[in-house]
Amino acid sequence: MRLLFVEDDAAFAQQLSTALKHYYIVDLATDGEIAWNLLQMRQYDAAILDVGLPKLGGIELCERLRQAKRHIPILLITGQSAIDEKILGLDAGADDYLIKPVGLQEVLARLRALLRRLPLVTETQLEWGNLRLNTHRHQATFAGKSIALTLKEYLLLQLFLQRADWVHRHSAIVEKLWNLDCDLPSEEAVRAHVKGLRRKLKVVGAENLIETVYGVGYRLNPSYANPQQANPQPEKVLILSAQAEKMAALLEPCGLLVKIATQPNELQTTLEAVQPNLLILGADTIELNRIALCQRLRHDRRWAWLPIILMIPHFDPDSVNQAFAAGADDFVQDPMIPSELMNRVLNRLERVRQLQKQFGTI
Ligand code: CA
Repeated sequence: MRLLFVEDDAAFAQQLSTALKHYYIVDLATDGEIAWNLLQMRQYDAAILDVGLPKLGGIELCERLRQAKRHIPILLITGQSAIDEKILGLDAGADDYLIKPVGLQEVLARLRALLRRLPLVTETQLEWGNLRLNTHRHQATFAGKSIALTLKEYLLLQLFLQRADWVHRHSAIVEKLWNLDCDLPSEEAVRAHVKGLRRKLKVVGAENLIETVYGVGYRLNPSYANPQQANPQPEKVLILSAQAEKMAALLEPCGLLVKIATQPNELQTTLEAVQPNLLILGADTIELNRIALCQRLRHDRRWAWLPIILMIPHFDPDSVNQAFAAGADDFVQDPMIPSELMNRVLNRLERVRQLQKQFGTI
């Protein structure tokens, strides 16, 4: 869980954020503008806003978020007990408020109540086969045996279990598990925490429960899942390229279902049949004009949202601009570089999921 805490009183900010960091990943902002910028850049599970802030006040920030249709839970902290300010805060779209001085336990209780409203944490128990994580007690067990985890190991496991069917990239792990105010760790640091977690899992009989997806990141080993916990429908990638077989061999271990299109002139029909979550297009052929196809899909209400990745041999500005203008979302080099392909595809799919989470359907 990542929180944004916005407070200009340095002593109070330090005190509360230090305490909160035992339970959450916390980014601290000291004025409303910085907070607004961070909220554009990152996904937060909740925000704690002081009302009296420099540049942009807590209530204005709240209004701005709600106007932007951001539904992040907001806890306001106000210095004055004036009833008007409280009403103003709730009218502006805050979910709850506290009056200073506030105690840590009270803040934690209010936060838990707010976070319970999120679909992600209505589950107090996350499971993967015999592995169980109780998110209220911060306890992990495997086949009934308890596992003593550090905070980072716990958060790692929580992240993996919340999205049990995903491949978790190093960069996504860093983003979710580290605060902005500390030096961002290297992949090496992520590896060290995963290694620690694996060692503890091995001790309780869960060897290789966390798998490495080479060049990309980690995922939970599907062989540990209960049959009734079968993965949700895997995401589908449709590829039209001479290198499609090779690409499928790379993407399928990432948990994706790959379909290969062979008839460029029937691509539209194939799209209808496959209903992919992402489309990768190789080089133009006599039967395929990719730019024209991108344009056509962008004007088709059924496919306007579909992420499209083009393979291009030369990253010359003209062809890149032309492809972006036609509606392509991203590019990979042709001939492909395996790690680049996997990262671009997973990135793009993750972005779509984030948008879906934020806006419902897109
Ligand atoms: Ca203040």
